[in-house]
Amino acid sequence: MHGLLSTEDLAFKAQCQAYAQEQLAPLAKKLGEINEVPAALRNSLMHSGLYGPLYPKEYGGQGLSAVRICLAREAIAGVFGPADTTLAMQGLGGYPIVLAGTEAQKKKYLPALAAGQRLTTFCLTEPEAGSDVAAMQTTAQPDGDCFVINGRKRFISNGFSADMGVLFARTASADNPKSISAFIVEKTMPGWNVDWRIDLMAAHDIVEFEIHHLRVPKANLLGAVGGGFKLAMQTLDLMRMSVGAAALGMAQVALQESLAYAQKRAQFGRPIAEFQSTAFKLADMAVEIEAARSLVYLAAMKKDQNDPSASYHSSIAKLFATEAAFRCIDQAVQIHGGVGVVKGAVVERLYREIRPLRVYEGTTEIQKVIIANHLHKGAKKRTS
Ligand SMILES: Cc1cc2nc3c(=O)[nH]c(=O)nc-3n(C[C@H](O)[C@H](O)[C@H](O)COP(=O)(O)OP(=O)(O)OC[C@H]3O[C@@H](n4cnc5c(N)ncnc54)[C@H](O)[C@@H]3O)c2cc1C
Repeated sequence: MHGLLSTEDLAFKAQCQAYAQEQLAPLAKKLGEINEVPAALRNSLMHSGLYGPLYPKEYGGQGLSAVRICLAREAIAGVFGPADTTLAMQGLGGYPIVLAGTEAQKKKYLPALAAGQRLTTFCLTEPEAGSDVAAMQTTAQPDGDCFVINGRKRFISNGFSADMGVLFARTASADNPKSISAFIVEKTMPGWNVDWRIDLMAAHDIVEFEIHHLRVPKANLLGAVGGGFKLAMQTLDLMRMSVGAAALGMAQVALQESLAYAQKRAQFGRPIAEFQSTAFKLADMAVEIEAARSLVYLAAMKKDQNDPSASYHSSIAKLFATEAAFRCIDQAVQIHGGVGVVKGAVVERLYREIRPLRVYEGTTEIQKVIIANHLHKGAKKRTS
């Protein structure tokens, strides 16, 4: 229960939690640590209804809701990481089309994404352009009725399994040398070569790939030429807080596991939960989780209300929840002692899975840059 949520949102959360326990947990056990989206997971997510809150009703979704995206990720991330990644990418690769797509593009792509019949991805990062997105080197040159794209993308989640994606490339011209534009690309277009699957510390479908003379019809330009940077940032504004939600879900599972273990594991003749050092660890975890939950829900509500400070709150939620979850999961491993570092233990898996969340969709340091810029702007406004 959480005082910030409506009765309908609480019911949605309960539905997601039931799906996670009844469907995803057994699937996770069966599939193990996977670095692609097998048919069983694809089908399960397709029928889960979890993609609904990512899309407007008129394109087959349940109505875009940041709160519900966060609730869905919170419910599933700690249970089956690869399911959470797939859900997140359906948002990152779909939301730019919701924001900037023409009616024809929306009708062509969104219903299939909302139904989970097609999987998508978000291709922004490059070897030389990580935090510094504007350093992007991939180019898109107009040529007849197409753009010809050449370059390289790195760390693209769902990159192996996705059927399509939104790809960002430089469209420099004399009047706008820094221009970046967005394109809807399909895996069937010749020139998209997934040549390197990256092996992360935790299960993740993630690739680096070369784009070699990829001819994208001009009809697949997403938004205006030069509008790509803003579109990428707007997309991250929505999805960033949901990274916080995923972290929160992982921390919650770590707390449940730790509490159960501490109550049953006895040393020196009594359960370790009775030692104050263990009890205080559990209490610290609970406090961090409740604080993270409040920040995530607040950011999501601000987004749903189109509050101008939503971006600021999204960064705060992402930063705090991912850092807090990392601290919680580290304590969970400590409470489990040797058992906590055995491969296959839930907290061992979470310890590996939580780490990348402090890096992707803007590192902790980049969130601090965004938060500090917001504070400076506010101070300037007050003095002018
Ligand atoms: C698991 C995973 C999944 C990902 N999925 C995707 C995806 O689907 N699509 C996609 O496009 N990208 C994806 N990424 C890429 C991710 O967004 C980048 O890794 C991230 O933005 C950081 O970029 P970088 O790795 O190049 O690090 P760098 O930018 O090189 O940063 C290295 C260090 O320098 C610090 N730093 C950099 N600039 C500053 C600054 N101005 N001030 C203070 N510190 C700074 C960083 O905080 C970091 O600690 C993914 C990454 C991971 C790990």
